[in-house]
Amino acid sequence: MRIERIDCQLLKIPLSRPRASLNEAAAGRLNQISVLLVQLDVDAGLRGLGFAYALQSSGRALHAVAVDDISPLLQGEDARDHERLGAKVYWSLQTVGRRGLVQQAYSAFDVALWDLKAKAANMPLYKLLGGARESTPVYGSDSAWLWMSTDQIIEASQPYFDQGMMGIKVKVGADPEADADRLTTLREAFGDNAWLAVDANERYDYATALAMGRFFQEEIGAAWFEEPISCEDVEGHARLASKLDLPIAAGEMLFGRDEFAAYLDRGALDVVQPDVTRLGGVTGWLKTAALAEQRHRPLSPHLLPEIGVHLACGLPLVASVEYMPWLYPLFTAPPQVQSGRLMPPSGPGLGLTVDPDAAAKYRVAEK
Ligand SMILES: [Mg+2]
Repeated sequence: MRIERIDCQLLKIPLSRPRASLNEAAAGRLNQISVLLVQLDVDAGLRGLGFAYALQSSGRALHAVAVDDISPLLQGEDARDHERLGAKVYWSLQTVGRRGLVQQAYSAFDVALWDLKAKAANMPLYKLLGGARESTPVYGSDSAWLWMSTDQIIEASQPYFDQGMMGIKVKVGADPEADADRLTTLREAFGDNAWLAVDANERYDYATALAMGRFFQEEIGAAWFEEPISCEDVEGHARLASKLDLPIAAGEMLFGRDEFAAYLDRGALDVVQPDVTRLGGVTGWLKTAALAEQRHRPLSPHLLPEIGVHLACGLPLVASVEYMPWLYPLFTAPPQVQSGRLMPPSGPGLGLTVDPDAAAKYRVAEK
């Protein structure tokens, strides 16, 4: 399976629902996602599809690393050798990026290698990964941004509850008092049994996180408390986890297994949320999942339900998928919710086909 042709495109896709208020947008918070789309054509006549993303950036650096630095290393290589190719890229580009952009850009290639592997085996990726289940629990994640009123959140979230999805995740972290009021209103609106998680995106300090954690635990019955404080503060997460019964969820900002190990060794994480594109792709994600499995901690992949559905259906300890359909406009048939659960596409590999019209529409012209 020799890689004969590599195509890297940079796309900008407007978010399914703005995450920034008008004021935040005016101050520079972007309501679009930059996507690095990588397609690998191999001599067996197959095409591997992979992608990575950048928020709050032009994405040009990601694309440049992919085109200038990674593609020449993979051209002509055997697409089956994901371990060797990952090591080749790591050692070749170590001086400019053990972490960060290089790993993010390479993740798109690694995802494409796994897409190819499953296509060559003529099976969906989740079957290749282990076939733990045929569908996965999924929660809505794009219906409760900070700028939204409770009425807007209820209106946007109700379809997710109506479909029978697990529930929704609500953004908090700007103003503790407003957060408490909002969660109280939402709990009343959706009822005692509704699954509600909260996500502070690292915005609280430790003392506020502890107080709010107790409130979310006792008054709201939140399902988990995500990124309560800075991702740099492993010790703070460990202290919160020891003082709260509420599960602490985090991991989307962590690069590499050693960062996860630091958290897991301290008992600082209850729900492990690795992002495929910060770990060097599916290969790094699976190794991180093995760490979590050793500690009997459930996983929930960050974003990208198109890949997450395969991880969750492939591996038994992946307990849920985050429904954030930001890349859905790019594909002709992205994974759909049926009877409240996310279904992996039935085709081989990721089961995704890029819609050529959408790719053309969102493509960023090269300078
Ligand atoms: Mg989050």
